[in-house]
Amino acid sequence: MPVTGGCRCGACRYVLDYPAIPVIYACHCRDCQTATGGGFVLQAMIPAARLSMTGEAIERSAPNSRGGTTTQIYCAQCLTRLCSHSSGRPGVVLVRAGTLDDSEAIVPALHMWASRRQRWIGLPDDAEAYDEAIPVERIMQVFAPNFA
Ligand SMILES: [Zn+2]
Ligand SMILES: [Zn+2]
Repeated sequence: MPVTGGCRCGACRYVLDYPAIPVIYACHCRDCQTATGGGFVLQAMIPAARLSMTGEAIERSAPNSRGGTTTQIYCAQCLTRLCSHSSGRPGVVLVRAGTLDDSEAIVPALHMWASRRQRWIGLPDDAEAYDEAIPVERIMQVFAPNFA
């Protein structure tokens, strides 16, 4: 069963080339709260080649905190933010996993910036959570299955 998702209005649809929902993380940082207008963001870090999207999308690029550029991709009609990619990580996309059709099945593999999470959000006792950003080595371990 392919992993599918799309924007709120239905104009943009996508397929992730995985047999099941890939590894996803939650980020509770203030930037993600502001960008989503919500409490946190859910993201799947995957090779760009495993994402195929249909429908008219628009792109907006802006400088990021790492000295590069991040490009956000939105549905041209309803402006749902679907994914992004950064100049520092060519060939990698971050899919906004809350746009998956089966988003209620998501269990984040880890939580970053847990220290910034909204106070009413509890985390399971066994959740892998980091108060700030995740060490790069751990990112590579956790997301290796998405790149296998
Ligand atoms: Zn749309
Ligand atoms: Zn964040």
